[in-house]
Parts: sequence; C-alpha cells; structure tokens
Amino acid sequence: MSYHVHARKAKKLNTKFIFISGGVISSVGKGITASSLATLLQARGYVVAPVKCDMYLNVDAGTIRPQEHGEVFVMDGGMETDQDLGNYERFLDESLPDINYVTNGQIYQNIIQKERNFEFEGEDVEIVPHVPEEIIDRLEKAAQARKADFVICEIGGTVGEYQNILFIEANRIMKYRDNRETLHIHVGYLPTPPSVGEMKSKPVQTSVRLLNGSGIQPDFLVCRSEGEMDDRRKALLAWICNMPATNIISAPNVNSIYSVPLLFDKQKLPEKILAKFGLKSKKNDITKWKTLAHRIESIQKQPTEMRIAVVGKYFETGAFKLADVYVSVVEAIKHAAIKSNVKIHLEWISSLEVEKQGTAKVLKGYSGIVVPGGFGSRGTEGMIATIQYARTKGIPYLGLCYGMQMATIEFARHVARLKDANTTEIDTGVKHPVIHIMPEQEKKLLKREYGASMRLGAWDCQIIRGTKTEKAYLKAGWLKKAGRATISERHRHRYEFNNDYRQKLESAGLIIAGTSPDGRLVEIVELPNHPFFVGTQFHPEFKSRPFNPHPLFIEFIQTATRTRKR
Ligand code: GLN
Repeated sequence: MSYHVHARKAKKLNTKFIFISGGVISSVGKGITASSLATLLQARGYVVAPVKCDMYLNVDAGTIRPQEHGEVFVMDGGMETDQDLGNYERFLDESLPDINYVTNGQIYQNIIQKERNFEFEGEDVEIVPHVPEEIIDRLEKAAQARKADFVICEIGGTVGEYQNILFIEANRIMKYRDNRETLHIHVGYLPTPPSVGEMKSKPVQTSVRLLNGSGIQPDFLVCRSEGEMDDRRKALLAWICNMPATNIISAPNVNSIYSVPLLFDKQKLPEKILAKFGLKSKKNDITKWKTLAHRIESIQKQPTEMRIAVVGKYFETGAFKLADVYVSVVEAIKHAAIKSNVKIHLEWISSLEVEKQGTAKVLKGYSGIVVPGGFGSRGTEGMIATIQYARTKGIPYLGLCYGMQMATIEFARHVARLKDANTTEIDTGVKHPVIHIMPEQEKKLLKREYGASMRLGAWDCQIIRGTKTEKAYLKAGWLKKAGRATISERHRHRYEFNNDYRQKLESAGLIIAGTSPDGRLVEIVELPNHPFFVGTQFHPEFKSRPFNPHPLFIEFIQTATRTRKR
C-alpha cells in the first residue's frame, strides 16, 4: 500500500479544483450552483470543466429507473448521465465530453480491471487510498480533456452519507498535497419553518461539522433558503463555521434558475474564488445573462399563458409528480418560449390518465402537445390516443423518440389503415411491426447486454429538402443552406422505423423528413396539412440551450402561439 505523493499530471496545466458538496437535504441546488459558477468563470475568460461525481455503483445512469433517478441525460459521446450534466451544458452553452461524468461504479470497475491486469504489481488493493486516487486520476483526466483552468467537481448526495465519502476523501488528499489548488464550497439549506417564522441555521452548522469530521474545512458556504439571509445569521454561521462572513453567499429562491448566475455575480463569488487562487478576471461580460433574466421577468408578467401538455408515463412518485424525469424537455420548451416571448403553463399529464378518462376530457384547452421518450408498454395506448387527438384537431405536436415511434404507429393504424400496427417493443408477434428492433440491438438483448448498449449519443442526420423540419433548422440558423443538409442530434433507443413499411406509410401521406446519411434509418417524420406535427427519433431537447434554443422547439412553440384559441 503506498501513500506516495504522486506527481500530478494536471500540474502542467495549473488547473484549480473546486469541490461542491451539499448538506441538509438532497436537491438543494448543487447542480445549479456548479453550473452558475462555471458560466461566471467562463465569462471571466477561463476554461471550465464541470464534473459530476455520482455515488451509484451503476456504471452510468442508463440502467437506473427514471423514477429513482430523474432524467437520463445523453452526451455527444453517448454517455448516459445524471441531469446535472444537462445543466452544465445549458449554462456553459458547450457540449462536454463523456469523461465529465463519474460514478462509483466506473471508479470501482477501473480499479478492479487494473487489478486483474496486474497493474498494481503485487500491492494489496484497498478502498483507501486506491479509490480516492482513482477519483483524483479521473478529475485530472477531465482537466486534461478540456485543458481546463478549473475543474468544478460536484459531489452527489449530501455530506454524512457512506456513499460519497471517498469523493470527499479525494478532496482531502488533493488539499493535503497542495492546498493552493483546491477549494470547497458547501451548499446547505436554511429552513424557515412556518410555525417558527425564523430562518434556522443549525442544519447547516451540523452539515459543516460533518464535513470538518471528514477533514474538510469549506471555504465558502452557499446558503439556500426561501428568502434572503440576514447579516445576523451570516455572522453566526461565519463564527461557527470558521470563515469570513463575506464567504457566505445568500441564495434565496428566485423566479428562474437562469437568474442564479446574477445572484452569485452580485455577491462577487467568482472574484472571491479567483482571489483565493491568486487569480484575476481576464475579462467580464455577463450581459447575456442580464438580458435573459430581464426577458424572463417581463414574460412572467404577461397576464395570459399558453397551456402546453407533456403526456408521458414517468410522472408519479408516491403522491408526488416528478417533473425531473423530463427536465431537458421542460427546459427546451422554456428556452423556445423565452425566445418567442410567450408565457407558458406546462402541465404534466399521465398517459394512463388519458386511457382512463379519454382525450376529450383530459386534453381540452392545450395549445400544444409533446409526447416525450419512454420505454415499455404501460400507458402507450394513452399516448397513441393523445397523438390522434393532436393530429385530427390540428394541435401542434412534437414527438420525441418514443413520441415519434408512437406517432408512426398512430398514423399506420388510423391513416394507412394497418389496424394492428405496433412496435415489437410492446408486441413481438404483431401483424404490422411498423417500429421494430434494430438487428444489432436484438443480438445485444439476447446476450443480456443492457448497459450502454442502445444507439447512443450524437449521430448525423440528413434533412430532406423542402420539409417543415428543414425550414425550422434554417430559420434558427442551425443549417446554413437548404438541400442535403446534415445535422447532428443525440439518440437513445433500441427500436427504429421499419423500412418494410416506408413506402406504404409514405404513400398514405407520412413525410420522412430526415434519415441517417446512408438513408437507412428514419430519423424524422412529419405531416403535411397540419400546422406542426413532427416526430424525431433523436432527442432534440438535449441540445437546446437558453442562448440557443432548439429549432424544432422554437417552431413548435411559435406555431402553437399562432394557432392557439384564446
Ligand atoms: N423505447 C424506445 C426505443 O428504445 C424509445 C426510446 C426513447 O424514447 N428514448 O427505441
């Protein structure tokens, strides 16, 4: 067992490492803190690599049930990640490499593989130091991949758990080796219990103590709360948590996650962090964030709102609805609405509810309908009924992955008169398998190769000339010129449009608006004689950014604004 102080590979880059932990409750806002800090450092001229460290033994998020974990975000490289990577990309307006997502599963898998390869040359391989060393190695690789000035390492979970302790230990070791290259931000929650009416700091005091017990003295505290934190509480926390009161940042609830960067900027968090590392801003321009915040604020003042329905199945968790499962869809709709200057009211509708109560009752009054991605048979008849309703009533429709496959089935059944059309995902022996498994996927499933084995990540798609889709991409500037143009979008699926039915469905009026460059895989379907009806095999929501909304979402929202009944 060796505790040698190894030479850091990232040393040449002089990368600084900012660790972010959370306390008191989960979902406290570490991800938005990390994303906001990343964009603020980027605005000051620095290259930032945000990394999420998840506690799961799952190698990636792809095999976790969405109700357990929320959205599975997909990166260009095909890594299936936690939704925080989506926030990082949205705030930075950059696509990140796969290496920026770390799980305990990946760390252990690597160590065990190295051990099997005799890379430890007879050493006993132990939880400590080998696990934190492997974590440090991964963080350094993330620094190298982007030649980053800063790695922001968001530690999943809350302090005091067994699961994330070795990420905190990695932070302690790095700090021990060179305390000028790391700092730690703790994000805690200060509740104001209604019965007491006073903001309480004890939970944060306790979580900082837990951190202290792991050898970490946080340098900054980001205090989440309902309202603004007062100086009295700041002074108390400063005294108890061992830091200047100026390093305590108040983070009250705000009307949009996109105003958090401004909140931190006002309290000079980036300058304080840079100063701690002996650095200065190279430039500073956050005008775009100010403009965005003003725009959101003025839209929120609009007296009426346009109702958009998202009809899926992963909404319930006990007595609560879990919008987290489709966070990128929600954000993409918001981005398009902000760009189109329209106030949106999003409603989550379970497709099971549509099955129970019927479309007329459940879907009345919506100006646009989205069916997002999904798996399995539960609720699919409700989705198909929803799509039929959108198609026949001329309501703008956007189908994302499963939503495209369901739209194809709906069209086959009710327009092309293939009464028994379905996907083989639901019915293997179906008479008209208009959606079927991709041959290479079938082989993988037979061998039970479930992990990271779908068609994943960014793939090129050729857009067909003259389609509505082409117009949308041209209008948004995502395509420079019409005709045989190629886009790149992110995928996560095992099933595809069955080419045996291509001609039949096309002659019944379905338009194939995009295919893989070799023409083999259908990527986009749309309908003529409808204000907006588009289904994509890919997930456009993963590439939508607040400063660069996705063309299809823009077109969907703008058509809905035009066709809505007031
Ligand atoms: N279940 C479908 C497939 O695997 C759709 C997947 C999705 O919506 N992401 O092809």
